[in-house]
Amino acid sequence: MTAKIIDGKEFAARVRAKVAQHVSRLKQDHGIIPGLAVVLVGEDPASQVYVRSKGKMTVEVGMKSVEHRLDVETSEADLLALLDQLNNDPEIHGILVQLPLPKHLNEDLIINSISPAKDVDGFHISNVGLLGTGQKSMVPCTPLGCLMMLRDHHGSISGMDAVVIGRSNIVGKPMAQLLLNDSATVTIAHSRTKDLADVVRRADIVVAAVGRPEMVPGDWIKEGATVIDVGINRLDAPEKGEGKTRLVGDVHFASCAERAGAITPVPGGVGPMTIACLLANTVTACCRANGLAEPEGLTA
Ligand code: NAD
Repeated sequence: MTAKIIDGKEFAARVRAKVAQHVSRLKQDHGIIPGLAVVLVGEDPASQVYVRSKGKMTVEVGMKSVEHRLDVETSEADLLALLDQLNNDPEIHGILVQLPLPKHLNEDLIINSISPAKDVDGFHISNVGLLGTGQKSMVPCTPLGCLMMLRDHHGSISGMDAVVIGRSNIVGKPMAQLLLNDSATVTIAHSRTKDLADVVRRADIVVAAVGRPEMVPGDWIKEGATVIDVGINRLDAPEKGEGKTRLVGDVHFASCAERAGAITPVPGGVGPMTIACLLANTVTACCRANGLAEPEGLTA
């Protein structure tokens, strides 16, 4: 079997178009402009790139984008004061604190100081609890993007065997919870899992979120399974020229694509969906804050 390639770039463009449509309706019918505030502490180059593209795409869908770039030495008290101000700002509907934070800041304390209703990353302990009990919550962006692609491809995933490789709070655990909430039979595999190959071979759906380049070979994949590759790993690529690199996922794409029914590529799969889902979460948060109907298909 040769897998269908799930085009995350195209899918993300469709999600952003839906968000833009809803934003325009909010403006026209209610005079409301959804606002997203992104807080960056320090000058981590990768974080700066993410924050820039988040701001650009926020504006492109018609929302208000506010960026707070703080010095790497910013104290916890100052950061908490900023979050308090944003929590109380009626023009801000989503707040995102770019991770990782400098070591002197307590990440859990900071994340849990964002108002849960504005927590568009879905990392606040209240949102984790709501998701875990199958209640309406803000859902972490990367797993939400994976879920959207799975629902789009399969219609329903009820009763399917799903294996999530990785148990991080950001991807693995919320992904497993979302699959469970959609009635899949879910196994969470991790660094201590015995005979991972055997576990993966049983899966109709494999979500790999490990951070190890091409660690899942094709012969682990059940014929016809759907493979969602969350991993982003940069490898040296001397064949492209000196100092050049290339991105690969956590699955070995060529061999997995020979057996899978559908697969996401890296780059161009899960990656583009993450920011699209951040925008979707912001418009959802805005609708909830104003007691208005949420857009269809943009949340779990
Ligand atoms: P993490 O390091 O927090 O977690 C990795 C998980 O993999 C851990 O739970 C660990 O138990 C598991 N693991 C490690 N070695 C393993 C092994 N040999 N076998 C099985 N499991 C093993 O990473 P994360 O934040 O969850 O990110 C995972 C990957 O996804 C990374 O490559 C990251 O860059 C990528 N990522 C992509 C996006 C996106 O937008 N596409 C978003 C977030 C993370």
